[in-house]
Amino acid sequence: MIPYGRQDVRQEDIESVIEVLRSDFLTQGPKVPAFERAVAEKVGATHGIAVNSATSALHIACKALGVASGDILWTTPNTFVASANCALYCGADVDFVDIDARTYNLSVEALRAKLRESADNGRLPKVLVAVHFAGQPCDMEQIRDLSNQYGFRIIEDASHAVGGKYQDEYVGSGNFSDVTIFSFHPVKIVTTAEGGLALTNDESLAQSMRLFRSHGVTRAPEQLQQEPPGPWYYEQVELGFNYRMTDLQAALGLSQLERLDEYVSRRHELADLYDSLLEGFPVTRPYRASQRYSGLHLYPIRIDPSHDRRKVFEGLREREIGVNVHYIPVHTQPWYRARGFGWGDFPAAEEYYREAISLPMYPSMSDQQVEQVVAALEEALALK
Ligand SMILES: *Cc1c(COP(=O)(O)O)cnc(C)c1O
Repeated sequence: MIPYGRQDVRQEDIESVIEVLRSDFLTQGPKVPAFERAVAEKVGATHGIAVNSATSALHIACKALGVASGDILWTTPNTFVASANCALYCGADVDFVDIDARTYNLSVEALRAKLRESADNGRLPKVLVAVHFAGQPCDMEQIRDLSNQYGFRIIEDASHAVGGKYQDEYVGSGNFSDVTIFSFHPVKIVTTAEGGLALTNDESLAQSMRLFRSHGVTRAPEQLQQEPPGPWYYEQVELGFNYRMTDLQAALGLSQLERLDEYVSRRHELADLYDSLLEGFPVTRPYRASQRYSGLHLYPIRIDPSHDRRKVFEGLREREIGVNVHYIPVHTQPWYRARGFGWGDFPAAEEYYREAISLPMYPSMSDQQVEQVVAALEEALALK
């Protein structure tokens, strides 16, 4: 089976994890802050807050931005459910902005129209979660202009875009948003097993996210509300969580991070090969927008509607090709349907979903495996 995504763990990664196992700290030692600094430096952000998943990072980002009951968070329906759920954890509501038919990212046109309408009825969002689908950055400059005009805050869900660039700067540099989120799940670009990270250039957001990561408990003198009676003293000043990353995970991440650029450039080689081999197939290849360098977490194609997507998908799986579909639109999930959403609400995301198949894409994939996938696709398309 050629999987759709797969981690690349090498001997040096294994050795750095073993080194932690032999050290004094399995968690809350030196590796987590070292990893936070390394990621922040790599992408050009001021602060990095490592956590146990991107889902946790989204949650603490929302908490730090003050998302609460009565607020609304907007995101795209073409994402993993976590990009929307973070608002519900905070007692806020979620709404969606339909996607652009070419990039499959949230459509700036749809966003502009929805903002105009929502300003009239007083239901503007507090936060927009912009998801860089498949690793291709959203149109951040225009989104930031709209945020200045309408006063919402921006979280970039860059789970797919670690190592990607927008206008020649790494995603995560924070030039166009308040917080950027990375995921280090094994199918993503670099891994810590489970793990995530929030990046920001705002000192007070960083402090707040650190508090929410660890029980809302602090020892920092400037955060204490009472006079410390002794050196053992700490205070709980927020209702936080235990979302900490371990030193084992951070050591793996630090070792993986050294190969980030290599990984993303290999993904580009694979995408180029797919692009050329799929020439003339009844499929739409991923569109690459200008001034963006995708992290290329995914290589999603659309199957021409003259073919049965399900048959093609099953034909590929029968041929041991681990294809997947990204994403079932979030608003069609039973949980969201029970809250008033339904099929037909965001037609562009639904149309894309009906035709989408993600082909295998991971850095240790060989050119020959790409050829194997394309040969299997050719057979599966002939099935009708
Ligand atoms: C994977 C993913 C997440 C969640 O990441 P975890 O680290 O598994 O919590 C969130 N958003 C998007 C877009 C993702 O792909």
